[in-house]
Amino acid sequence: MAIAFSRFVESPPSRFLLHKLLKREKSGATRVERYLKAYARGEELREAYYWFFKKVLEKGLESFIGSEGREELRKALLDPYFRKGLVNIIRGLAYFGVRKPFTPGAPFLIVWDVTYACNLKCKHCYASAGKPLVDELTTEAALKVVDILGEAGVVAIAFSGGEPLMRKDLYELIDRAKEYEMQVSIATNGTLLTRDRARELKKHKVDFIQVSLDGTKEIHEKFRGVPGIYGKTIEGIKNSVDVGITTCISMTATKLNYRYVPAVMDLAEKLGVQYFMLYNFIPTGRGESVLDLTPGEREEILKLLWRRLNESRVNFLSTAPYYARIALQNKKCYLATHFYNVELSGRLTTLADFIGGCGAGRFYMGLKPNGDMQPCVFLPVKLGNIKQFSSGDEYLEFWRKNRLLEKLRNKELIEICGECPYRYVCGGCRARAYAYFRNCLAPDPGCILAYRRLATKDKWFSARRNLGQAALVQN
Ligand code: SF4
Ligand code: SF4
Repeated sequence: MAIAFSRFVESPPSRFLLHKLLKREKSGATRVERYLKAYARGEELREAYYWFFKKVLEKGLESFIGSEGREELRKALLDPYFRKGLVNIIRGLAYFGVRKPFTPGAPFLIVWDVTYACNLKCKHCYASAGKPLVDELTTEAALKVVDILGEAGVVAIAFSGGEPLMRKDLYELIDRAKEYEMQVSIATNGTLLTRDRARELKKHKVDFIQVSLDGTKEIHEKFRGVPGIYGKTIEGIKNSVDVGITTCISMTATKLNYRYVPAVMDLAEKLGVQYFMLYNFIPTGRGESVLDLTPGEREEILKLLWRRLNESRVNFLSTAPYYARIALQNKKCYLATHFYNVELSGRLTTLADFIGGCGAGRFYMGLKPNGDMQPCVFLPVKLGNIKQFSSGDEYLEFWRKNRLLEKLRNKELIEICGECPYRYVCGGCRARAYAYFRNCLAPDPGCILAYRRLATKDKWFSARRNLGQAALVQN
């Protein structure tokens, strides 16, 4: 069915018509946005392009879900985030066709480190944060960035850092993102998340707050470099939960703390958060490679996460892309992405190959406080600076044509991973590959399957020698 859909969408007349759907109207919105609203309300528009739009929508539905999903789709389309996501998918079909994995018409998510100012000194910080950069974006320039992303159709922004709550104009940036109906999340260390601030964030319609917690009091404070902050972090989590914002505890697993992962999972359940995110430590920035887990240790932690996911009301996520492989090896088809987990069955299982896997430069991009763009916040390769664009359309042109982004989207190009049956749902972490081999298309040595094949190669041994990485010695 996916093949039939792909043939239909990729025919030259369909591609031509898809571009017509994306034409901006006088209101500044695209034709397809108006059509989606009409479809959600069950209206029939007497326009030739509307007939084609319905054909694409219903053929896509038929291919991946089945026509019985039509009523649910109408209901879901009443949600502005869902509509925004669908416009992005239609734009992706017009620009790139039906790719495996799929590339949307604009990033779904931008993780934006709005400042490198931070009140903590975490050992693993990818941003080496502490003081703000000298050239951080002014309020005016940062608002312009939100305009560019909003016009381009970006669905979600995560304000991160550094400590984003130290940025004085954060509420202004949130409000501007909300004008474009973007989903907004905040990734914070939690120590500044007082009850008043949590209420204020709720008032500004923040959808999601992620607070970092790396173990017990002793471990957390050792990790975060400042004594006495554990209590404030826990208070921050409670405040976020209490004001009714969807809350996530995030933990970065390293040699120092991975034995405490189960304890933090228990705490996540006790504190009533909805999500627990296990970050896959990448040796970049201040994060030294001696902190890294071996592939075997990582595999065990991910299996534990998987078991807990099946037993708990908390949604256990991970940024390690091999999490999807572990699910499939346990005979369940999970769409295990960095942002959500969905169990797939029946015809929906075909979706995993289209959506899953490392999203760097494909589903998401990172942005530094000075506007420098990276495929992922953990992958320190500068692609340009967002200040170079004067409009959302110019940004979209860059998204379509940038050579490195195009390479990152093609999983067949990746050494070792490119031959792996899990390449579309996983594809390895490109930031980890870069950290170890200075090559975004190298294998990911954090995965046990890639590790076994790498261990037989000369290149592997020279990488270990060059980087002195004890972590890569399998246990
Ligand atoms: S070999 Fe690569 S694609 Fe396969 S599971 Fe490991 S990291 Fe993922
Ligand atoms: S490179 Fe990919 S897998 Fe690694 S952290 Fe970034 S988005 Fe996630």
